[in-house]
Amino acid sequence: MTALSNSYMTNDSGSYHQDCYRNYILPKCDACGHPLDGQYSIDSWGNKFHTRHESETGICSSCSKIVSEQTTNSGFIHNDGRIICSLCNKDAISTEKEIEDSRRRVLNQLADVGFFNLDNNVPIKVVNRNQLSKLRGGDPNIRGLTDYKYSSTTNSRGEVIEEHKEYTIYVLDKLPELVFDSVLAHEYLHVWLFENDQNYKSNITEGFCNLGAYAIYNGIDDKFSKIQLGVMDKNPDPDYGEGYRKIKKCLEKQGWSKLIKNVKNGKASLCY
Ligand SMILES: [Zn+2]
Ligand SMILES: [Zn+2]
Ligand SMILES: [Zn+2]
Repeated sequence: MTALSNSYMTNDSGSYHQDCYRNYILPKCDACGHPLDGQYSIDSWGNKFHTRHESETGICSSCSKIVSEQTTNSGFIHNDGRIICSLCNKDAISTEKEIEDSRRRVLNQLADVGFFNLDNNVPIKVVNRNQLSKLRGGDPNIRGLTDYKYSSTTNSRGEVIEEHKEYTIYVLDKLPELVFDSVLAHEYLHVWLFENDQNYKSNITEGFCNLGAYAIYNGIDDKFSKIQLGVMDKNPDPDYGEGYRKIKKCLEKQGWSKLIKNVKNGKASLCY
């Protein structure tokens, strides 16, 4: 046997010539295909990749995949700064018909779990992140917004004789169908809360509205939905993350109809 001058690497099953180890034993990067030596990361989909790709191509803001030719057919940076992969972009909702189809799916799914009579004429406007954060006063991470205007007509004695509630729903542009549906469902639950004159603290409000997104993803049996539910379960935000997980526990305990009834009657906190 000839001694090799190169160094050897070992793993649990023995020693390897360094190049062989790199090329045949080390797992490969799902983004660039090269061996994963050194530091690597894993995205929500289980793709393993060199950590440096995260600052080079980034993670898709919609589907949470590492962007690369292999994982997402590459991607681009939107003019509002968001990283969007080609798969999500191909599937993005933008036309009037796509928006109305989404509305129909969302209202059906919400009715399925017990939210009836939601107004199907609320205007839905698709805007980019800069426009959305201007409307909201600076939060760059939101994907949707419901604008609510209330006015009333009073008689000569100052009594309210007529109430007007007017809504506009704004949804972030370039969202793929399923994400768009989940955002729209969240916003429609804001409309539902306004319609029922419920004004909870933000962790209850946003947590509850996120149950709309949950209802969408939970109603579809595919990997994308499971991953998005996983992303929601890990969201560190006190309202959209913690608030959501808390009220989801209520849902698991009470079921939809009891939870809806409590929230409608100002008793959301009964199960906390
Ligand atoms: Zn790589
Ligand atoms: Zn994507
Ligand atoms: Zn919200």
